[in-house]
Amino acid sequence: MASSSSLYSNSPCAACKFLRRKCMPDCIFAPYFPPEEPQKFANVHKIFGASNVSKLLNEVQPHQREDAVNSLAYEAEARIKDPVYGCVGAISVLQRQVITLQKELDSTNADLIRYNEILPNHGGSSSPPPPPTFYYPSPWNNDDPLGDAYHTGGGGNI
Ligand SMILES: [Zn+2]
Repeated sequence: MASSSSLYSNSPCAACKFLRRKCMPDCIFAPYFPPEEPQKFANVHKIFGASNVSKLLNEVQPHQREDAVNSLAYEAEARIKDPVYGCVGAISVLQRQVITLQKELDSTNADLIRYNEILPNHGGSSSPPPPPTFYYPSPWNNDDPLGDAYHTGGGGNI
């Protein structure tokens, strides 16, 4: 019966279809859970529960709801894949990568400074070696064994 969408002006959103209820024109889920993405709502409902999602969406400003739903969908999918750590698992892996790469970058920058010091033609005080400009600022990385000796380079956008 549901195959004949011409009976309805709009096909029900994924949430209402999942919950088997009528999708009203003011349905809070409809803009964010289109019928062609049924798994998105199924995941979010399984992890957070439809009523909690509805409450949360009502508490959030309309222009923030899409981001909120995307965040919930990401978290729900991660939690289903990894019931223990959820998206924290992915965040931890990425944080460890950032720390590892930061250390690699630190040691490479330290090498660059050493090479600049032993170059034979560096004598002119008017031409100091250029500061490394590849510093990658990390909000998480407090482990900075080399201090801020070369943080003055700046301008290292990506
Ligand atoms: Zn709906």
